Amino acid sequence: MFSYRHAFHAGNHADVLKHTVLLAVVKHLKLKDTALHVFDTHAGAGLYRLDGDYAKTSAEAADGFIKLVNASMPFAPVLQDYVDMVASFNSGGQWSVYPGSPFIVQGQLQDRDKLKLFELHPTDSKTLSANIAQLDADRQVTVLREDGFEALKKFLPPPSRRALVLCDPSYEIKHDYARVPTMIADALKRFATGTYVVWYPIIPRPEAHDLPKKLKTLAIKNSRSWLNATLTVKSSKLVQGADGEVVRPGLPASGMFIVNPPHTLKAALKEALPQMVATLKQDSHAAFTLDAG
Ligand code: SAM
Repeated sequence: MFSYRHAFHAGNHADVLKHTVLLAVVKHLKLKDTALHVFDTHAGAGLYRLDGDYAKTSAEAADGFIKLVNASMPFAPVLQDYVDMVASFNSGGQWSVYPGSPFIVQGQLQDRDKLKLFELHPTDSKTLSANIAQLDADRQVTVLREDGFEALKKFLPPPSRRALVLCDPSYEIKHDYARVPTMIADALKRFATGTYVVWYPIIPRPEAHDLPKKLKTLAIKNSRSWLNATLTVKSSKLVQGADGEVVRPGLPASGMFIVNPPHTLKAALKEALPQMVATLKQDSHAAFTLDAG
């Protein structure tokens, strides 16, 4: 069984990148007249407490979302949208709740739109169902305890022929690195015009290094536009822990690869990414990249 629980990581620098991009994409896609179908293949628990035991143990939001909001600077519009969106889940000047992708997306949907959430972990899937039940939106949102990589197939193409797919695995199983491009290749065959958003970690592993390259090759082969945005907050070099042991430094960087991105996304991120670097940097290796084709 999986050991990854997103509650330990909610609001970290990878979530800042992922959720800023996700929100910008869904905000753009909802503008059209026809219904949008959104599929979150690895949904997590939906909502996370920043003052709960999990978050306190790792305190990753302190180096992510909390650091960002405490920066006194005027934010780029997509970053401000993201901060405002998280603020809408909190009150009284406290940052106690952090929304995961299901709630970020659901908050943007119109009545005609649909959201399907896949989550395999038994506890997170139960928590997700309970969190979603509070929304009283069961005609719009469905939670499925299924393998998101496989289940997506059943739903493409969607009846309205407009879809957004978020693929955000934990990559704790090495095989995930291969399953992502396999899923995207299959999805593009079934539905070439969907918008596909993939989060990936940037770590010193060959499979991780190859993943964005494979996605780019797939996009080009299918004559699809693409965008790749990365955020590095620190060096990936091994560091000496408090007890003198050499340890991995924790996640140093991550990326978002989008097939068929909104045409506005590149310009929006060009403004936002330097601000993420400026506010979240942990050492002189902090940087961003933004490529599109
Ligand atoms: N997308 C969420 C967000 O942004 O708030 C975070 C998701 S977390 C990184 C990945 C989740 O995928 C974990 O909750 C894990 O239990 C779940 N998971 C792992 N393998 C899965 C699979 N094959 N199908 C569906 N869920 C899976």
